[in-house]
Amino acid sequence: MNFSDLGLSPDLLRAIADAGYETPTPIQAQAIPEILARHDVVGCAQTGTGKTASFTLPMIQMLAAGRARARMSRSLILEPTRELATQVAENFQVYGKYNKLSMALLIGGVAYGDQDKKLDRGVDVLIATPGRLLDHFERGRILLNDVRTLVIDEADRMLDMGFIPDVERIVGLLPPSRQTLLFSATMPPEIRRLANAFLTNPKTISVAPPASPAETVTQALVFVEAEMKREVLRQLLGSENVKTALIFCNRKRDVDILARSLKRHGYNAAALHGDMPQDRRTETLESFKRGEISLLVASDVAARGLDIDELPHVFLFDVPIHAEDYIHRIGRTGRAGRSGKAITLVSPEDRRHLSGVVRMLGKDIPLLEMPGLKVEQPTAAPPPAKAEDHPPAKRARPPSRSPRQPRPPAAEKPAQAEVKRTAAAPEPRQPQRAAAPSESRPPKRRPAEEADGGLGDHVPAFLLRPVRGPKAAA
Ligand code: AMP
Repeated sequence: MNFSDLGLSPDLLRAIADAGYETPTPIQAQAIPEILARHDVVGCAQTGTGKTASFTLPMIQMLAAGRARARMSRSLILEPTRELATQVAENFQVYGKYNKLSMALLIGGVAYGDQDKKLDRGVDVLIATPGRLLDHFERGRILLNDVRTLVIDEADRMLDMGFIPDVERIVGLLPPSRQTLLFSATMPPEIRRLANAFLTNPKTISVAPPASPAETVTQALVFVEAEMKREVLRQLLGSENVKTALIFCNRKRDVDILARSLKRHGYNAAALHGDMPQDRRTETLESFKRGEISLLVASDVAARGLDIDELPHVFLFDVPIHAEDYIHRIGRTGRAGRSGKAITLVSPEDRRHLSGVVRMLGKDIPLLEMPGLKVEQPTAAPPPAKAEDHPPAKRARPPSRSPRQPRPPAAEKPAQAEVKRTAAAPEPRQPQRAAAPSESRPPKRRPAEEADGGLGDHVPAFLLRPVRGPKAAA
């Protein structure tokens, strides 16, 4: 199957060739002809399958004829996070380079002014997070009665983030005679209900089981006490000869703490999470993509869809609370056929989440074979707090290093015990996502757009210790 067999225009074929794609991925091969035939489509596909192009390519072609009217949009793509929305907008630019289409990206955290200006002129494509779109609608800046194509992307993520009421409201503002495309990595009953309510005779396309990670990603586990995670991570960065990596934490505060800790140890690291202002998030992501930042410590806001070329390593500093986030996190590496390695640090508190991941994968994750890995065994009594345990301490920065060249690990303290390595104890089968007692559904009303996953009940011991000043900590 070639792209030229899919009914795409010469302009699009040229843009696809420029992007270096040779053959369509399975979701593209199946979805593009259906979308061009104006059918509604339910696409069961995770990120990394090429699903963005599967809807952007036919949309560009369908929008090539016709013009937008002032304050109106001819199509709408709903995304759960700002990062995903931005990425879809980038895709539109890449594939639409030979088609002159106007586009507006409506995401939270950026000023309304520029978005308003674009909307005033009318746009062919509106890419939005639900909250910001409704804000614009309520301010009377956009009318949705001209939308002929609606894409609800990452629908299961919308559900997790509590956006479904907003999505339902938005769909109620659109004309009933439209084409609707819904993409989701998983199909929980609530998403099926939405699909039944919003789509007409949809074609269902399913590629790769939702819970299968890319074959190109080598996975490994390291069992470690919570207090030793940072030290073990630094050892891994050295032993794995890591040049650049994404490191995921469950909690935003841990993202900050770990990024600061790595910086203090001389690594070229930065944090990325949903509490950061949008301009800093964008800047940080861009710097990482350009290779100016070697280690990006992130919350799940960065896990979905984030597309970075040549990212050979992903570290999971915590086991994600929702098992499917494991797939999304490790899916940042091993993209487009490249090989990648995903190493997960598992503390005793993480184990119940690990059993959910193992159940979802249907197989164990191998333990990391690393003879030299040595860490201090934590003592029963909490050790004195270390500098890195504290919120920002004003201290001299280590000398800056060249991009993508993290410092080899500092000489480690004398090892007292090897990292504990035990196999993941299988637990009785349970339905997915019903696992953790701490796992609560997000509010049904509109929450913050970038609510990060992972408000577990585990509070690391160091966070419970009194905070000491930089002097004491030094
Ligand atoms: P997505 O699933 O949309 O996040 O896409 C995953 C990655 O695959 C992105 O880096 C795309 O640029 C890339 N990609 C999409 N379609 C193709 C294709 N047909 N051939 C090679 N790479 C592709």
